[in-house]
Amino acid sequence: MIFRTFEKQELKKLFEILAAHNRIIGPVETGRDRDGRPVYAFADVTDYDDVELKYSITKLPAKRFFLPFKEDLSTFRIENDTWQKEISYNVDRPLIFFGLHPCDINALNKLDKVLLHSVYPMPYYAAKRENMFIVGMDCIPQPYCFCRSMGSDTALHGFDMFITDLGSRYFVEILSNTAFNFLKNIKTSEPGEDDHVLYMKVVAKRNNEFTRHVDTTDLTKILDMEFQSEVWKEWGDKCLSCGTCSSVCPTCYCYGVDETVDIDLKGARKTKMLHSCNLIDFAEVAGGHNFRPGRENRLKYRYYHKHRGFVEAFEESLCVGCGRCGESCLADITVPEVIDSIRGSGRNK
Ligand code: SF4
Ligand code: SF4
Repeated sequence: MIFRTFEKQELKKLFEILAAHNRIIGPVETGRDRDGRPVYAFADVTDYDDVELKYSITKLPAKRFFLPFKEDLSTFRIENDTWQKEISYNVDRPLIFFGLHPCDINALNKLDKVLLHSVYPMPYYAAKRENMFIVGMDCIPQPYCFCRSMGSDTALHGFDMFITDLGSRYFVEILSNTAFNFLKNIKTSEPGEDDHVLYMKVVAKRNNEFTRHVDTTDLTKILDMEFQSEVWKEWGDKCLSCGTCSSVCPTCYCYGVDETVDIDLKGARKTKMLHSCNLIDFAEVAGGHNFRPGRENRLKYRYYHKHRGFVEAFEESLCVGCGRCGESCLADITVPEVIDSIRGSGRNK
């Protein structure tokens, strides 16, 4: 890895160089919530002054740019009495993500394991992912995030460059040739020993600011032991089965496929739509049988996929601890509380 430092005003210059020929997605403020706190979203940005570098977290993850909620996989037309099939990976030009936090970069790394590097890679995701340039940015720990417990508070890969605010200047980690070449356009310096010391101080200070933690020790075993626990029923009774948690989650990727025929019978399409395992029809199969008709079963399987099945397959959890699901849940169901309760259910017996 190559390191550099640069003065703060150089970041604007870097943004403008990147924006000259590329589409940039960055964090912007979109309004205020009922408590007056800013609400952020990832959106197209062309003006550096619109980018909120000190954003807390976006309500929705960057997922919609590489796993859109709804996407045509293929379209069909009848021409000369035969079906013509068209496939588009729906990529118009490269995307630059400017200011992704470590948790969102780690979420992409986890999605890559399933959608890029598994037995059945998804070409629609791969095409978007390959045309992506990521500028990571350090974050300020929030009271609801528990990314440090999930090992997602720092990103070791999955970005082109990663910028840390040292106060008076920026420290940048460079992982790709493209990033190295872009940085040649601004004034950078080799970090000295004082930069290294300052960087470590900044990181240590940030590490102390994480206040929410969750104990994941032996979690896969505990989940196996507590599969029949009454705790699932209690959480299931609270759950509204609205699916919001999956929509806001940067790592939920389950989807369904619909096939529709145009009203003139001359065309058809196959459409992928993101689904949620908490929705009532998620496990319904042909003939109408539903394998998970109860709310507690659906909620339970979401946790088993994230913290049990994915760990077994990839040796890491499918949760980055961003806290978005708990923040958005109208029933106040949060991952730390569910995990704590399932651990507690074993201890109290
Ligand atoms: S856990 Fe919360 S957000 Fe998720 S489906 Fe249940 S009520 Fe909705
Ligand atoms: S399960 Fe919740 S806390 Fe974990 S990654 Fe998804 S939204 Fe974030």
